[in-house]
Amino acid sequence: MKNCLLCDGPLGSTLLTINEPDRFEAAVNITREGYERTWRKCARCGAAINVMASSDEAKLDALNEEYYEVDLGTGIEARYEKIMRLPPSESDNHQRVLRVLNFMEKWTNDGRALNVLDVGSGLGVFPARLLELAKPGQIASLLALEPDPIAFEHLNSLKKFSVQRRILDDTFDHGDFDLICLNKVMEHIRKPQNVISAIKDRLTDKGGVFYVEVPHQITIDRRPSTDNILGALHKHLYDVGSLSSFLANNGLIVLEAGFVKDPSGKLTCYAFASRSLDPWD
Ligand SMILES: [Zn+2]
Repeated sequence: MKNCLLCDGPLGSTLLTINEPDRFEAAVNITREGYERTWRKCARCGAAINVMASSDEAKLDALNEEYYEVDLGTGIEARYEKIMRLPPSESDNHQRVLRVLNFMEKWTNDGRALNVLDVGSGLGVFPARLLELAKPGQIASLLALEPDPIAFEHLNSLKKFSVQRRILDDTFDHGDFDLICLNKVMEHIRKPQNVISAIKDRLTDKGGVFYVEVPHQITIDRRPSTDNILGALHKHLYDVGSLSSFLANNGLIVLEAGFVKDPSGKLTCYAFASRSLDPWD
């Protein structure tokens, strides 16, 4: 691979070289012998791209289906309960929900109830907290999409919001949404352009908002090379500039973008974007 997965620009400098397979790679029998994986900076958009042997990548693609089995085993409910019990100051999701609700209040300005889609809900802490912290009547409906069978069963068992077992693509047949969220998902998708296009198609014409969160590429400088964020399942890492240009290159208008250090210590990049700058009503 010589070109950027996000903008097709040429890859430039090597930011980090890793010579030790991570636990996901170990799970599919990728060994240390001759192993090399590098994070390289795109000379055009500035994103960091994970470059690995194509044979290793093929093995990992097969693993992606069983991600929650390797990552969480059977303890998904216990993990959900543990994260839900965190006090607000220690909860990444609490801070994320406040960021989203504050932005929507500023942006919508008319008290309209929101139809919300959460893509790749995982444990479901974000949609659960969103319902909990929203003002009465602020959320009209909430639909969660999750392709993983274990996570899907868990989300259904919460009985807090609607759930569909699927990814988001152009076969998703549904009405439009006022808010679509994609939290720590995009970095897992090798070529996320199709997902962004499907999201764009499902935003309401008048001011529908897309919220996206991805790991920040300064993780490469500030964390050890064994950090989860720098692992083989992540295809790209961003900064405010590369995230904004990716969204703009795919037909969205960036309304706000920023960098946060989450309470858990994760270094995160986020953006709010829309299809148009039309007034909300
Ligand atoms: Zn690029």
